[in-house]
Amino acid sequence: MPEHSAPQYTAPLLWARSPYDLRINLGTDVPETDVRTALATGDMGFLHSFTTGSTVDGPGVRVVAWTTGCTWRCRYCHNPDTWTMSNGLPVSVGRAMEELRKYRHGLKVMDGGFTLNGGEPLMQHRFAAKLLAGAKGMGVHTTMETNGFYGDRLSDAELETIDLVMLGIKTWGAERHRQLTGMDIEPTLAFARRLAAKRRPVWVRFVLVPGLTDDAEVLSGIAGFAAGLGNVERVEVLPFHQMGKFKWERLGLDYTVRDVAPPTEEAAARACAVFRAAGLTAY
Ligand code: SF4
Repeated sequence: MPEHSAPQYTAPLLWARSPYDLRINLGTDVPETDVRTALATGDMGFLHSFTTGSTVDGPGVRVVAWTTGCTWRCRYCHNPDTWTMSNGLPVSVGRAMEELRKYRHGLKVMDGGFTLNGGEPLMQHRFAAKLLAGAKGMGVHTTMETNGFYGDRLSDAELETIDLVMLGIKTWGAERHRQLTGMDIEPTLAFARRLAAKRRPVWVRFVLVPGLTDDAEVLSGIAGFAAGLGNVERVEVLPFHQMGKFKWERLGLDYTVRDVAPPTEEAAARACAVFRAAGLTAY
């Protein structure tokens, strides 16, 4: 379906204060056939929200589009309301571009850009590709944060429209990964290798969860892998926090890390030191 004939839905709640706003059932009225068409064409997508002013989702100040839909079930996920695509607002790609256009000059002045985040953006890979290409076409720096599982859905040409991939590597080892996320690690690693072969810039993001992702084998495994790629500009060690706890509770989900405290500053510093010892830049 050409973009101009994409179904039009009003999206009055597109902008949110933060991705930690709980949002559910915003797209449940969209007929199943329109959902299928949207996914196939990318003319419409489902977004938890747009946020602005972020300084932690890529270089400089970012406008961030948060997609809904994720097949992973990370035990520490901060935004489980983004797992279900129909929790998001249906938004045409034209509308999303219109919103971004308002900020394009400011983003350039502040050396910032546009970040596509989720959920998992590549659950809606046609929509993601259109948004990223559209932003790039405006001269705006583009970043996508992804778990990498569906990286093979993007063509090489589409990868070129992404200035920076922020790749979440959740843990190390096939069994550990399955227990933590419910999914295989290999597609993520394959995507990382492909980005390395294409020399696309990558930041690795790693959530440090005491008792879950902080053992030496995990840290040294990820560090060795990332250092061997040659295109990892930095590793971001993100201390686990409990800001998403209320979402798990409100959604009636079994939150197995409800009693886990955030890591201490010393523990985060020790994790960074492991990455630095492998020759990586880590924060
Ligand atoms: S990949 Fe991201 S959005 Fe999906 S469950 Fe894991 S942390 Fe949550």
